[in-house]
Amino acid sequence: MRLNADDLLVNTYGAERIRMVRGKGCTLWDASGKSYLDFFGGIAVNALGYGNKAIAKVAAKQYQKLSHVSNLYTTEPAVRLADAILKHQPIPNRTYERLFFSNSGAEANEAALKFAAICIQKEGNRAPYFASFQNAFHGRTFLTLSLTSQKKYRTMYEGIFPPTLTLPYNDPSALHKKLTPDVGAVIVEVVQGEGGVRSLSSACALLLNRLCNSNNIILIADEVQTGMGRTGTVYASEGARLKPDIITIAKPLGGGLPLAATLVTKRIHTHITPAIHGTTFGGGPVQCAVACEVWARVTAPSFLHSVQHASGILDDALVHLASNCTVIKELRGVGLLRGIQLADDVDVSQVIAQLRTAGLLVIPSGDGVIRLAPPLTIKKADIRNAVDILHAVFRTYKATT
Ligand code: PLP
Repeated sequence: MRLNADDLLVNTYGAERIRMVRGKGCTLWDASGKSYLDFFGGIAVNALGYGNKAIAKVAAKQYQKLSHVSNLYTTEPAVRLADAILKHQPIPNRTYERLFFSNSGAEANEAALKFAAICIQKEGNRAPYFASFQNAFHGRTFLTLSLTSQKKYRTMYEGIFPPTLTLPYNDPSALHKKLTPDVGAVIVEVVQGEGGVRSLSSACALLLNRLCNSNNIILIADEVQTGMGRTGTVYASEGARLKPDIITIAKPLGGGLPLAATLVTKRIHTHITPAIHGTTFGGGPVQCAVACEVWARVTAPSFLHSVQHASGILDDALVHLASNCTVIKELRGVGLLRGIQLADDVDVSQVIAQLRTAGLLVIPSGDGVIRLAPPLTIKKADIRNAVDILHAVFRTYKATT
């Protein structure tokens, strides 16, 4: 009898999903042997693609040497990784002095918010009052969910959240009005990964820097999806000229193993003392050994250059596609995080199912948007094949709006 996920797992992901069995580069194979071009990389996780033998070797070697010791001890891979991450300081006038390892994007943001809460209280006896943006997604723990505005994720839990402020995205006059000294910290995505692939305007990034500075508000950049080369720079904050006090990274860091980091400036770190926060698994030696390899690769200037090059090819191909497919309403995104907004009357989940049948895996983002987040190692031929499949499916739709 074939075991069925639907009979065994809590029903948080809907109907039975395709059972994937192996991957190589940008291609995945399911249990029936059908292959798929993966254009969302395990939700922006698989930066180096599937089946990387060098990474597999690092993981196996470290597992045999030392797998888990808890955070009552430290390990050589964790120290080496922290050093590599903190050596890279690309944001002008911001130095990230320390970092905290955890296991997921939500945990990295939860740590950021808890550290910010401590700092806010210690600095000025203010209550920790947090702000985030419309359509933001920061995770599914209670604190991060309280700052995630999309209704579908939070409606069932309303009433349990602490009071928060939701700011409109890319609205300078609202920022001026609402980002007052009452706000203790604000968390922002430079590109909203789950919220429609909208990018923070440079006017708003600069205004956020200015208002946070003058009102003593802690600025947190959630780079869980955008960090580590996705937008063509190590941090998307670099391109946007955002100057966060705290940066969180996660998805690609562990090369597919769970690992995240919360980077803090001295202002924040000064207030952190033992027992304030912690984790059993965060920063384990196997994840960190793998992450050292991933970090070294994705932060190499030649690698970032290749991401920028691939992103230019993808951009050109999408612009050409949009000129031939009336169903495309708008193109969004930066680097290798792209959004295709379809006409209002189109059922995006149906389009995604058709693309999957045709051998291309993509995911939705917000309302009516198809998100592309392929491995950062994507090749020109894969981009061409993906865009051919998009074209074949999109041309069966006509825009009526
Ligand atoms: N923040 C952002 C910007 C994300 O895109 C995500 C996940 O998609 C998260 C936080 C939550 O990460 P995780 O699912 O690893 O908890």
